[in-house]
Amino acid sequence: MKILTTKKIILVGGGIGGTATALALYRAGFEPIVYERTTTLREVGAGVALWANATHVLKELGVLDDVLRESDPITNYQFFSQMGKELMNLCINHFEVPAVAIHRADLQALLWRKLSSEHFVLGQTFERFEPVGNKVLAYFTDGLAEIGDVLIGADGLRSKVRSQLFGQVKPIYRGMTSYRGLTNYIPNTYKRGYICEFLGSGKAFGFVTIGKGRMYWYVASKAAEGQSDAPVGRKQELQEIFQDWPTPIPELIAATDETSILKTDLYDRVPIPKWSFSNITLLGDAAHPTLPTMGQGACMAIEDALVVTQCLLEHSDPAEALRQYESLRLVRTKKIVEQSLLIGKVAQLENSFVVAVRNTLMKLLSQQFDNDYRAIHAYRVSLKLDKY
Ligand SMILES: Cc1cc2nc3c(=O)[nH]c(=O)nc-3n(C[C@H](O)[C@H](O)[C@H](O)COP(=O)(O)OP(=O)(O)OC[C@H]3O[C@@H](n4cnc5c(N)ncnc54)[C@H](O)[C@@H]3O)c2cc1C
Repeated sequence: MKILTTKKIILVGGGIGGTATALALYRAGFEPIVYERTTTLREVGAGVALWANATHVLKELGVLDDVLRESDPITNYQFFSQMGKELMNLCINHFEVPAVAIHRADLQALLWRKLSSEHFVLGQTFERFEPVGNKVLAYFTDGLAEIGDVLIGADGLRSKVRSQLFGQVKPIYRGMTSYRGLTNYIPNTYKRGYICEFLGSGKAFGFVTIGKGRMYWYVASKAAEGQSDAPVGRKQELQEIFQDWPTPIPELIAATDETSILKTDLYDRVPIPKWSFSNITLLGDAAHPTLPTMGQGACMAIEDALVVTQCLLEHSDPAEALRQYESLRLVRTKKIVEQSLLIGKVAQLENSFVVAVRNTLMKLLSQQFDNDYRAIHAYRVSLKLDKY
């Protein structure tokens, strides 16, 4: 049994990344404490796809069985043209663990339940950190100050930990907004296990079931940053845009309650070559925010959780551990961020000739897509607790 000299880990942010990291650290014998600005640990009312590269981590964390009970498996990723012609049908269940689609709040609750409440301090907004000897002091808005051996910023796209480390730089709006909806309407024609995505001009519509009889759908659409809803309202606007798209798209929008349709502008950042400084580091969207076009943002945060924990186990010097964590994560996360941006650009194509060429290329290159997805989903890291 290894004596851990680095013990208390301050995590800023209790999203999927912060919570998964707290769980990994706890299982490895550390004392993680998550400081979260909201007063309840919650996620937005939408689905999230978790590919094998993330579900294998959930297995290591002992939550995969629970996740499987509350989610639906994904076996295929099927793309269509706006007219409903199949472009590609990628089989994605090649691995020892399944890919799944789950409600974000269900995933969050499952991770949270594995930890006792003493690991969470809610309603605390992180303000700044200060190195104190070989420790780090974190300050919160209402005067709370906490000292720890390591501080991990898992505080998302607009991370304050990141701003203090590297200066305040705005994330980059990539010209696309997203809509996400949930409905209990499951069309008879829906093939269980399929993510179906229809690609039009500057727009895409996708859907997949996420367990407990719920259908999650999403739209990516070219738009100006911060564009407000049309006067007719969000739902009717979408109904008008997608009225002549193939069934069941209009029906899914019609069956969704207007209040459950979320709109989120899509941002990323240019990958940076370094995100740790001494015993302070970043994780998840705080470190490598990405467009959701490959559905890998949360999956990468979950991978980070295990890698950072493994590195802290292997090195008694936290600075050395965080340097190793960063070096193990840089190449992979950079590749996914850049590939997601490229897919985002392709999804924004509007000219009908160019769209036709894109669709033809997708059909011709489906083997290449299959290989690329398979390689990304094949990533594995394991928490070798037995070594310590
Ligand atoms: C439309 C859309 C679809 C997506 N689909 C997928 C998908 O299918 N699969 C996938 O893997 N990923 C997907 N993603 C990406 C995924 O949502 C994110 O990558 C993931 O949620 C990042 O988790 P995180 O914990 O790093 O950050 P966040 O989820 O942003 O969590 C950060 C947490 O920090 C807290 N916080 C922030 N500032 C402070 C502060 N100062 N003090 C204290 N707490 C603070 C916040 O309240 C929040 O709880 C999608 C994203 C979008 C926008």
